[in-house]
Amino acid sequence: MDLKEIGEFGLIDRIKAGTRQQDGIVCGTGEPDRAIRGIGDDCAVIPQRSGKDTLVSTDMLVEGTHFLMGDITPYQLGWKSAAVNLSDIAAMGGKPTAAFLAFALTDSVDTLWTDAFMDGFRCCCDSCGTPLLGGDTTSSKCGLSICVTVLGECGSGNARLRSVAKPGDLVCVTGNLGDSAGGLEVILRGLERTGAAKVLVDRHYHPVPRVTEGLSLASCSGVHAMMDISDGIASDLLHILDESRVSARIDVAKVPQSNELQELWPEKALDLALCGGEDYELLFTVEPAFEPLVSIPHFVIGVIENGAPGTAVWEGLKKNICGFRHF
Ligand code: ADP
Ligand code: MG
Repeated sequence: MDLKEIGEFGLIDRIKAGTRQQDGIVCGTGEPDRAIRGIGDDCAVIPQRSGKDTLVSTDMLVEGTHFLMGDITPYQLGWKSAAVNLSDIAAMGGKPTAAFLAFALTDSVDTLWTDAFMDGFRCCCDSCGTPLLGGDTTSSKCGLSICVTVLGECGSGNARLRSVAKPGDLVCVTGNLGDSAGGLEVILRGLERTGAAKVLVDRHYHPVPRVTEGLSLASCSGVHAMMDISDGIASDLLHILDESRVSARIDVAKVPQSNELQELWPEKALDLALCGGEDYELLFTVEPAFEPLVSIPHFVIGVIENGAPGTAVWEGLKKNICGFRHF
């Protein structure tokens, strides 16, 4: 079967179905309620005898798919490679504890390039107190690729899963959406990078993993489901709705957008905010009584309902929407 027919998430479902699921299997802790969670969330969650849970996530960046070598600087690429991975630990409400870096390098790079890449990588890891503990290095004849694995930890059972949104919860995001996609438009169209255009390109190349925000959210018991927005909220919200077997009603007028996005792309700012990827803000659901207790900046954009599982009503939207899909 053509991969386009089933898409990225169809393929992941297929892998999951063919894999002996460890979910629900107790991890040698002797406590029956502490089970591994595998494929399907931002990180795997592995309970430890210490009483903490270990979080693990892997993400790749591939030349031509995720970045253009002629445009991104090595520092930016290093930063972004770390950031997109640390973001998955943030998405679980965890504290990142270690990073591992594997890359396949082409002839086009030298030590000046790798030093600058490592500066960016380390700077992002340092901003989250995360040491680089290992990796792998090899060559590639057909494009540069980077694969990062991050470990993190959280209190036992405290990871914020995608599967626990409840009807009545408010749907919230931690910041403006669409800037990264707006920046990508600037890059792809070869526009001058001044003013608003520069701000958006910076947002595309320098995403900030919301680790502090994730930790703060996970300390609030009323915060239920959580994930990071990597593919665009239109697509990512559906993961929470699917996994939690609930629906949502979103008021698109409440989806936060920066002044820069609205200034540069007035016609399609909303499209970019809903469908554009790589903002790496957190998407979470919270019980209404607890929302005033959420101490980090956030925007309420909708509510979880008891409708057809995995569906969302986008109030105020005139046409169909979809997020970024591989294949
Ligand atoms: P994210 O965007 O948060 O990095 P993905 O959409 O890439 O998450 O992945 C969704 C889930 O599928 C994650 O739990 C991830 O670990 C799992 N996954 C993705 N690709 C594979 C694969 N090739 N083999 C096993 N699990 C995978
Ligand atoms: Mg994620």
